[in-house]
Amino acid sequence: VPYVEAYRRVHCIEGGNMSFSDDTLRVLMVIGRQGPMSRSRISRELGFPPSRVTRLAEALVSAGLLEETGFEASTGGRRGTLLTFRQDTYIMCGIRISIAAVVDVVLMDLHANTLEQRSFTLSPDTTPGQVVAAVRQALEDCFTAHSGLRERLIGVGLGTSGLVSPERGCVLRSRAFPEWRDVPIVDLLAAALDVPVFLENEVAMSTAAEQWFGNGRGCRNFLYISLGQGVRMGLVIEGRLYRGMTGNAGELGHTTYRKDGPVCYCGNVGCLERYVSTDALLYWGRDALGSHSDSRLGQLCPRPENLNLDHIFQAAREGDRMANTLLRRVARPIGQTLAGLINIFDTEKILVAGGLAGAGDLLLSLLREQIDIHALPHLGANTQLQFAELKQHGTAIGGGALILEKLCSGRIVLPK
Ligand SMILES: [Zn+2]
Repeated sequence: VPYVEAYRRVHCIEGGNMSFSDDTLRVLMVIGRQGPMSRSRISRELGFPPSRVTRLAEALVSAGLLEETGFEASTGGRRGTLLTFRQDTYIMCGIRISIAAVVDVVLMDLHANTLEQRSFTLSPDTTPGQVVAAVRQALEDCFTAHSGLRERLIGVGLGTSGLVSPERGCVLRSRAFPEWRDVPIVDLLAAALDVPVFLENEVAMSTAAEQWFGNGRGCRNFLYISLGQGVRMGLVIEGRLYRGMTGNAGELGHTTYRKDGPVCYCGNVGCLERYVSTDALLYWGRDALGSHSDSRLGQLCPRPENLNLDHIFQAAREGDRMANTLLRRVARPIGQTLAGLINIFDTEKILVAGGLAGAGDLLLSLLREQIDIHALPHLGANTQLQFAELKQHGTAIGGGALILEKLCSGRIVLPK
């Protein structure tokens, strides 16, 4: 069943669809992006007369999308009632497929509170049909465990590692499933699940999660940097998620860092990813342990082959010199790269995520050091460096952000 037909089948049910004017959707968008808001503030934000906001908001309240919640902070005058997304009507599903083929399925309300969650790992030779069947089964389990959710689901947001075509709903290439080529995953999932499905690359989805529900909320310009097995970047520019021409913007890890470096799996030589990923840190850590077994890191992990990231982070926090040297070795190229990005984008915030974020404030101070050295002073000094807020299931939660974005732009139509 083609994706568009599946979409129509579900959403042109008897009784028709609810459709909203562009201005109504703008009210929804401003609340989604900035949080609970009074009618008078919406009126100021959008430049609409108060009576108009009252009318538009009423349509959203009766559609079950908005509800009233408490009062705004006092500013001297009469305190307005805050409008926020309604929590007990519609639900959204976010799915993430990681590089390691770990699949995260999260059902959440419109505030991104998790209602049910399932995770499972698939083998690299899993076919698209098997992935769809596994996701469907996970959703069935969720619906069985939590009655009343099935009917409330309005959409699925899927984020996968690798190269994707969000427009065509296809996974072009995937490190999780190396055999996959141009797989129409959106069509397949929409047909199996009977709801609209939207696809995004993994890092764009994590970035959307921060933009709608995390530390990027209310921030018009920020970069999201994921430092894990891969190194990828998400961009929010002037309040919009930047996707690029093909939907794959942000492949930061495959920029050339050293032209005399090792060959990368992407085919290029000396990619940044080979120097700053969690794999690189572990590789150097194991190498260093062989000759410094008397260090604190050596006490925490006597056998190099058992070394994990937490050993390195703990030893570094306890002041171990070797662990700190290892962290510095990965932080330097990242910090230099961030300094360059700050010069280019003049960004308000950089949100750091991924496995290396486990090093905590130590990592941020090493990065700050490099930014202070290499960024233009009046730019770097004003850029905030923070960790991403949504750690656990952050990418899957971004599926919810994607659904809200589509809802606010009129691309998801709710049944009456
Ligand atoms: Zn590469």
